[in-house]
Amino acid sequence: MYHHWIGGEFVKGANGQTFDDLNPSTDAVYAKVTQGTSDDIVRAVEAAHQAFLSYRLVPPSQREEILIRAADLLQQHQAEFIEILLEEIGSPISKARKEMSTATAYLRASAGATRRVTGKTLPTDIPGRLSFSVRHPIGVVAGITPFNVPLIKCIKHAAMPLATGNTVVLLPSEEAPVIAHRIGQLFKEAGLPAGAFNVVTGNGYDIGDALTTHPLIKMVGFTGSSSVGKHIQALCGKLGKRCVLELGGKNALVLLKDGNLDQAVTASVVGSFLFQGQICMSSSRIFVEKPLFEPFVEKLIQAAKHLGIGNLSDPKTMIGPIINPRQRERVRNHIRDAKSKGAILHTGGDWTDHCCRPTIFSNVGSDCLLYNEETFGPVTAIYPVDSADHAISLVNESCFGLSASIFTNHLELAMRFADNVNAGMVHINGTTIQDEPHVPFGGVGASGFGREGTDISIEDLTEWKWITMQHKISS
Ligand code: NAD
Repeated sequence: MYHHWIGGEFVKGANGQTFDDLNPSTDAVYAKVTQGTSDDIVRAVEAAHQAFLSYRLVPPSQREEILIRAADLLQQHQAEFIEILLEEIGSPISKARKEMSTATAYLRASAGATRRVTGKTLPTDIPGRLSFSVRHPIGVVAGITPFNVPLIKCIKHAAMPLATGNTVVLLPSEEAPVIAHRIGQLFKEAGLPAGAFNVVTGNGYDIGDALTTHPLIKMVGFTGSSSVGKHIQALCGKLGKRCVLELGGKNALVLLKDGNLDQAVTASVVGSFLFQGQICMSSSRIFVEKPLFEPFVEKLIQAAKHLGIGNLSDPKTMIGPIINPRQRERVRNHIRDAKSKGAILHTGGDWTDHCCRPTIFSNVGSDCLLYNEETFGPVTAIYPVDSADHAISLVNESCFGLSASIFTNHLELAMRFADNVNAGMVHINGTTIQDEPHVPFGGVGASGFGREGTDISIEDLTEWKWITMQHKISS
């Protein structure tokens, strides 16, 4: 039984209710978890606020030490975290290992950021005066995380706020609460003061607004679907709160006729099918210049047919179960809809238990759900294009703009693509799924608002103060 994590300990929920956290491979109960209420949110925010009053004064060397220790502990407990990722969200082990290394790197990079929360000395027109600016932490920060990369996202939504002297209330996905609890314990073991990191579990649809609108919450960091993100942005706008939104994607991978066919196929396999396509940066649209269209389709089909399915402990497995019945129905619906509207299904479309086989379409019309919406499953569509410019115009038809990639050796076309495509992240000769701790990670349009990353987050998580000191009085 998992209760909330408030003030450095497990705390029972106000109304004593629980919910079932299911293992998506079988839909059997993995854990019983406390169903949070608005009262629980208030309790957690108040604990975080109390902690903030002293944590804001903790020197950078100490914050640095805590974050480094947390990274070391995460590595030490690697096997346990990986097991949770396999059972709680159906991660194949290779993806779980990648989550581990990304989360650990993010903690380490955040430790380094504690010493980069710098101010400025400023020129002044007043003789005998020193003019400078400093940064202060903003207070209690809310982190709201999705189910698909819960370890990375719980760490991301905690590490930089803690590095910059803020405290955190985390509302993890109702599909992945256990991993968040384990992170709470990890921070405690690393020496984080009680109350600096809190976890309230429950259904975000019921208690999310209580968190976003609480007067002591100074900023909301949200990762999840575009619809919930838009709702949170509206609330924050009305209340004058900061928010950073990392949302969905309909990411394009482009192969031009001079590009490396085999590299593009490998990148498309990872891009489209990693973690059964449940990645915000998944390559769900692939545009191939006509001379390479047929060989590309053939090679991708062959690669997709040989991907490991189902056995999550096998490092060769790329496809695990889709997270829940609602999401499975969404994937089925996108496939059904495309087939009924004349799209050509090259492979996949069928299921083994809760795993959808890697699915490849072509001839997908703009009236298809698959063309416009995020499927969040192992389903991709390949489109022929006449030129780089044709690809750019099709890529930009989407309202999403998270990640895009292009395979070409033509420098000018590669840079034209990078300059003109509506996306927050562009990779030349690389897959659409990429992340590093210090980069400005995020998207435009329906894919997000603001960026996250150790360097750029310092700006969001601190408030400037201008200070002057008259040290010489002119007589
Ligand atoms: P979701 O939007 O359904 O849920 C995300 C979180 O929001 C959950 O914790 C949920 O409980 C909470 N929530 C729901 N209603 C809320 C409300 N009114 N107020 C506050 N919180 C609320 O998303 P999901 O299904 O868990 O995750 C998949 C989505 O996340 C996809 O769209 C994916 O692209 C996106 N995602 C984006 C990134 C990124 O970095 N851009 C990374 C991972 C996932």
